[in-house]
Amino acid sequence: MDSSSGPRRVDETKEAELGFVNAGVPGWKLASKFFPSKLGGKPAWLALQDLPSDEDLRCRRCQERMAFLLQIYAPIETRVDGFHRTLFVFLCRTASCGLQNAECSNMAVFRSQLPRENPYYSFHPTPEKDDSPGPSVADFHAICWVCGQPAYGKRCSKCKTATYCSALHQKTDWKAGHRKACGEYSESELLAMAKPEEDPVCERFLRRVRMYPEQVLRYHMKSEPLWVSVENQISLSAVPPCALCGAPRHFEFQIMPQLLTHLSLGSEKDAVDWGTIAVYTCSDSCRPSEYAREFLWKQDFSPN
Ligand SMILES: [Zn+2]
Ligand SMILES: [Zn+2]
Ligand SMILES: [Zn+2]
Ligand SMILES: [Zn+2]
Repeated sequence: MDSSSGPRRVDETKEAELGFVNAGVPGWKLASKFFPSKLGGKPAWLALQDLPSDEDLRCRRCQERMAFLLQIYAPIETRVDGFHRTLFVFLCRTASCGLQNAECSNMAVFRSQLPRENPYYSFHPTPEKDDSPGPSVADFHAICWVCGQPAYGKRCSKCKTATYCSALHQKTDWKAGHRKACGEYSESELLAMAKPEEDPVCERFLRRVRMYPEQVLRYHMKSEPLWVSVENQISLSAVPPCALCGAPRHFEFQIMPQLLTHLSLGSEKDAVDWGTIAVYTCSDSCRPSEYAREFLWKQDFSPN
């Protein structure tokens, strides 16, 4: 497995490919301008505007904000407007939301694409050692200081600087130190403190992923998922077409069960369990003007 975190072109004909960054990668290497594939932490948004709506980021079962699970950088060589292309997967942390078989309303996958010439990133690849922050989503959009998701209107009423996705994260940040920091720092100092931090659990997990990558994620565009049981599979004809252009969707990658058993998704992680999640995307990779919601299908291990 390649250990680089930089942009990579996904060859459609190649076998399942895993592009996750390895443990030990410094945080600045996970900035949007390096087009990372990554697990956990904060999303490194590709397009820095027109982020998914509040409604789309909420679990359709409990209405809480879902947590960012992973992103995969998977450009499409055959499309000028797919020069940069990243898929983002979100998942609800509430245990009871994940219990229903084939219930996918507690997850979401979004696709973002940009041509090589775009308003955010330079035409030429960023040099490997360039640790300047690069364009930040915070320049364009209010972002939750805790999770990096878009914040729609929720703001600390005291300093009017700190922004959050939800009341829950506002509370988390207050307890984690904003109580002290609020109002005592300038805006730039506060923003510097809100820099992405990687989760140590995630780091440990990634070290294991390096040894068994196939257990975590299978990337194989236009192929078929490996189902974990004969029950509750979905046939390609039952997958709804692209909501934007109407083209049929095809299989692109699947998330394997081992991923969650190692990830800390909160205190109720044991209840978040699945066999596999298959992700289907627009076969035409049409250029969405904003983050396009794609389709995923969860197959649980059969109970017996
Ligand atoms: Zn939920
Ligand atoms: Zn948040
Ligand atoms: Zn404040
Ligand atoms: Zn489409």
